[in-house]
Amino acid sequence: MKKTTLIHLMLFALLLIGCNAEEKKTDTTTPDNRTPNFIVIFADDLGYGDLGAYGHPTIKTPHLDRMAQEGQKWTNFYVGASVCTPSRAALLTGRLPVRSGMASNTHRVLFPDSKNGLPASEITLAEQLKKVGYRTAAIGKWHLGHKEQYLPTNHGFDYYFGIPYSNDMDMVDGLLPYWDYWQQPNDSIKTEHFNVPLLRNTEIIERPADQNNITTRYSDEAVSYIKENKEAPFFIYLAHNLPHIPLFASNKFKGTSERGLYGDVLQEIDDGVGKIIKTLKDEGLAENTIVVFTSDNGPWLPFKLNGGSAGLLKAGKGTTWEGGMREPGIFWGPGTIAPGLVTEMGSTMDLFATFSSMAGAPLPEDRILDSHDLSTVLLQGKESPRKSLIYYRGTEIYAVRHRDFKAHFFTQGAYGEFGERLAHDPPLLYNLSHDPGEQFDIAQKHPEILKKVDSIKALHQSKLKPGKDQLADRE
Ligand code: MG
Repeated sequence: MKKTTLIHLMLFALLLIGCNAEEKKTDTTTPDNRTPNFIVIFADDLGYGDLGAYGHPTIKTPHLDRMAQEGQKWTNFYVGASVCTPSRAALLTGRLPVRSGMASNTHRVLFPDSKNGLPASEITLAEQLKKVGYRTAAIGKWHLGHKEQYLPTNHGFDYYFGIPYSNDMDMVDGLLPYWDYWQQPNDSIKTEHFNVPLLRNTEIIERPADQNNITTRYSDEAVSYIKENKEAPFFIYLAHNLPHIPLFASNKFKGTSERGLYGDVLQEIDDGVGKIIKTLKDEGLAENTIVVFTSDNGPWLPFKLNGGSAGLLKAGKGTTWEGGMREPGIFWGPGTIAPGLVTEMGSTMDLFATFSSMAGAPLPEDRILDSHDLSTVLLQGKESPRKSLIYYRGTEIYAVRHRDFKAHFFTQGAYGEFGERLAHDPPLLYNLSHDPGEQFDIAQKHPEILKKVDSIKALHQSKLKPGKDQLADRE
């Protein structure tokens, strides 16, 4: 072979290697270089074991399952608290609720006669994204204060459509006492028994809110918002108020699930997910939008057949066992999210830093955030930066997770299940990778891990300034 031909061949080979390297390089922007739209679909009281993709044998959630298959399915994804109000505050502020005063030892959540709500001094994810030109909508349950100054439109959202607190609150007079009421068959439980208002922005447009078809109405609102705001980057926080009891499904879904009414409700939520994905595809926005699905806390177990399932995890809503705080976490974005199963840790609190990073919004520097930027995990499949997690009940630390290990300093059931408050010294210690059901205490074998967990807890506490309790005062 001639020397010049050999040089040409070598140059050609180098060129090929170069092209290949170019193809492998991962960009952190979406395919058309615009900052992505974000949609967070947040269910209420849905358990870790309630979706087809997470192992439920009879609840059919084909749209969510497809999102999990095409995108990332997280199996160690957590919420910031095991009940509604503090969990929502955590997601929207990227901070443990003890910092904002949205966690309390007197009341676990806000009620229709609560005086306060999320303080104006907190920066919500909506406010954060508005700084860089996003259009923002909150659809569904708010539960961060029902008085006007606390509503979504005063916390960075351009638009609000939904109920301001839980769908079981504001029960009308003349019914059975609260816990007795739920012993009735489902066809005795009526939407008009709950005088919950439905708001558009700050105006009540319906009271009581007709909950029979509320899931589909929320999904349709999200679809309209996507179509109306497709030119600007947008953030939609779609917080369904179901499957929190009372359960209601539209006629189209009632009686369709093998799992009964609870399954009907989830299948209606899943149908709405399908409509949202279809709209994104039809509008040419699929490759420029990230959709996240998760839930605010674990299943409300005392409601038995009307409550969900935490699958193989222990206990449920209201507890710091895994069933209370670990949730399905699905991230979808074709061409953007690197598909795969993610077994490392993430939290709803991380959405704040992650979306800020992807949108180019600088993080506030005047406060402590509990938010890790997960964008390299989502876009490039890299290791999660989150290595630890602090489990609060009210304003008290009950447990700390560091990598695979979780130490419980206190355990306590909720709503009469899983026992009274117990202090543990030494703490109970579980390896959650080996033992996700928290069955086998291995504290005696791992004094070095207990020491490490103690140091994480002490460091956290040394920097903590709890916010003024916003849940304590009632009319
Ligand atoms: Mg909830």
